[in-house]
Amino acid sequence: MNDSTDKQYDIVIAGGGMIGASLALALSPLGLRIAVVEAVARGEAQQPSFDDRSTALSRSTQRMFEAMGLWDDVISAATPIRRIHVSDRGRFGFSHIDAAEQGVEALGYVVINRVLGEVLQSALAKSEAVDVMCPARVVDLDVGGDFAVAGIETDAGRHEKLCGELLVAADGANSALRPMMGICARKSDYGQHAVIGNLLPEKPLENCAYERFTDQGPLALLPVADDRAAFVWTVSSHDADRVLGLDDETFLTELQEAFGYRVGRFSRVGKRSAYSLSLSKALRLTAERGVLVGNSAHGLHPVAAQGFNLGMRDVAALCDCIADARSSNPTADLGDPDLLGRYAQWRRNDQGKLVRLTDGIVRLFGSSSPPLRAARNIGMLGFDIIPGVRSLFARHMMGLAGRLPRLSRGVPLK
Ligand SMILES: Cc1cc2nc3c(=O)[nH]c(=O)nc-3n(C[C@H](O)[C@H](O)[C@H](O)COP(=O)(O)OP(=O)(O)OC[C@H]3O[C@@H](n4cnc5c(N)ncnc54)[C@H](O)[C@@H]3O)c2cc1C
Repeated sequence: MNDSTDKQYDIVIAGGGMIGASLALALSPLGLRIAVVEAVARGEAQQPSFDDRSTALSRSTQRMFEAMGLWDDVISAATPIRRIHVSDRGRFGFSHIDAAEQGVEALGYVVINRVLGEVLQSALAKSEAVDVMCPARVVDLDVGGDFAVAGIETDAGRHEKLCGELLVAADGANSALRPMMGICARKSDYGQHAVIGNLLPEKPLENCAYERFTDQGPLALLPVADDRAAFVWTVSSHDADRVLGLDDETFLTELQEAFGYRVGRFSRVGKRSAYSLSLSKALRLTAERGVLVGNSAHGLHPVAAQGFNLGMRDVAALCDCIADARSSNPTADLGDPDLLGRYAQWRRNDQGKLVRLTDGIVRLFGSSSPPLRAARNIGMLGFDIIPGVRSLFARHMMGLAGRLPRLSRGVPLK
């Protein structure tokens, strides 16, 4: 199996999207040999991770990019969120979270995935620690003895074997690696699509992010560059094709009706795309010489803008476990079950909480049952008036709750 023609690495990462690329860069100061296998070429329009979506980065993700020396590049293309305004269509009440009240400069930052992708991929291209195989996909896996051996196939049809002490699946919610590792996932379809794009509101958002719950599902407006707003509009899957096919004027009229006139009239809508929404959760996070990170471990509804941020905390925790193992023993086996077990135990709570929270919000605000409608209005009221509730919630949303790994605290690994 461990043939001399095989390429040898300490860690092989399958998937070089938002999470896989970040993990490789986070690990690179540790003196490890790392391979990233990514299926879709840089700059391709169909790159599924670095696409036209905008992502709200939490404060803990910001700190990670700072510790990794990438924040100056990210912030040059990011827009700060200083307020979050939450409302329920057809009700008068609303809630808000304010950066100043939480004692922070910003609650988070909005960045376009494609731009974040350029930052990460440029850094990977310069990294001496990381070899990127792209476009190539992992097609099989053989684990035993001291290595996991990933079989990869390039677009040109060439086959190679990559050996690593540890194989990381960062290949997204429909992970091909997860079943190869013998890990099952529970999945449920929300019957919703997120329609995304950007538009020009009459009044600038002034660093405020809006979340509005409607009968169809949540609708978010995020501040982005040039006074434009990125929207994430959740619609029923039955209606997604119709909504995508609307002419610009009719689309804006329907979106405006769902959102209201809080930021004036909408105009100049850009290109739109739709994403099918489902919840997925892997039943285990580790296998022999293998771990899951990011969406391969948990795919969330985007309602609370937490999927990537949660995945970045997976990255930070895995980096801590690996850095600790190698600092006490420079030849420590990175596929050691104890090391992988520490990672899994650390991540269980945070992942479980976010899965329950996002799923709970979608179900609570998606219900037309009168008792649940009453409960959510009381909830929003309580959120605003009960001391401490808002701060507690804000700390979770900023990714600052619980025991944080070094990178999530902004502390470099080396
Ligand atoms: C509409 C929408 C809005 C969102 N907004 C936010 C937000 O504001 N904040 C937030 O935190 N999260 C947000 N998310 C969630 C976030 O986008 C995901 O959590 C994040 O993209 C997960 O990154 P990932 O790298 O784990 O997976 P992916 O982004 O799916 O990347 C997987 C990568 O693996 C590659 N790949 C797949 N199979 C193979 C293979 N066999 N071999 C090699 N490579 C392979 C793919 O090409 C891809 O590059 C949003 C999601 C949606 C749908």
